[in-house]
Amino acid sequence: MIAMKEDTITDPAPGSRLTISHLLGIFSLSTALLLSVWDIRLSMIPLIFFVLISFIAPFFTGISYFLPIITRGKPSGKSVSLTFDDGPDPISTPALLTLLAKKNIQATFFVTGKNASRHPDLIQDILRQGHTIGNHSYHHDPLIMLKSSKKLFQEIQRTQDILKTYGIHTFAFRPPAGITNPKLGKILSRLGMYCVNYSCRAFDMGNRRIPNLSGKILRKIQPGDIVLLHDIIPAKEKKQRMLKWLIEIEGIVDGIRKKGLEVIPLPNLIHRPVMESIRNVTHASHHEHPASEPWWKHSIFLTYL
Ligand SMILES: [Zn+2]
Repeated sequence: MIAMKEDTITDPAPGSRLTISHLLGIFSLSTALLLSVWDIRLSMIPLIFFVLISFIAPFFTGISYFLPIITRGKPSGKSVSLTFDDGPDPISTPALLTLLAKKNIQATFFVTGKNASRHPDLIQDILRQGHTIGNHSYHHDPLIMLKSSKKLFQEIQRTQDILKTYGIHTFAFRPPAGITNPKLGKILSRLGMYCVNYSCRAFDMGNRRIPNLSGKILRKIQPGDIVLLHDIIPAKEKKQRMLKWLIEIEGIVDGIRKKGLEVIPLPNLIHRPVMESIRNVTHASHHEHPASEPWWKHSIFLTYL
């Protein structure tokens, strides 16, 4: 099933016009003005503070600093969602799909445009099995947020165009390495998209660190978490690594259930559609779902609601 049910399309948060960066900017500027009355040199302190915070904040992937970022569902529930980044991959994806089908789990795959264009059969398999797909940029350039707005727009748009050829329009964008910048909110708004990161990860470095992956996730996992995993196997010893990785993924699923938590699809956890069939795009655009609203209308506290 490609299109999401309408009852999952609800706005989880009241709107807010300002992000944390706006509020901090206003505060810093006001403080600088006040201090300038006393001594103009002192006014530099809050401004330097603001610049430093703005430089560091994007690396904290759970903070909605420049734009609203969804990083989790409601912590009051008993559910979590699994997300797999960087695929599809001809070694890992088929095996993962088999495991997810066996465990009766629907996940979300944040694919790169490059890999999606290389492996149309895998994208079709992901969709056929009822999983959802998000946009993870075209090249997965970890420095993309330092490049121009035009380049960033192209990275996202190009991936959207590729996914379109598979009959889907995705709303959810996950930036490479989870890092954002001041331009991203406007770009996503223009494309009718929103930003999704995660609240639980094992720092697996794209499956370069597979040992005890399940232990690291299970030690941290909390109700409402969006779990970041990877659907790609690094070049060396692909098949051997894949088997070890698959055992870890199975361990994560079993461990989550042992903790009394349920693994549910991401759209159900965050109460937003992740994607929809192209056939339904026109129809869905009549709904007041948050993806069609300007990014600045969402609460800066959206992350925690
Ligand atoms: Zn990634």
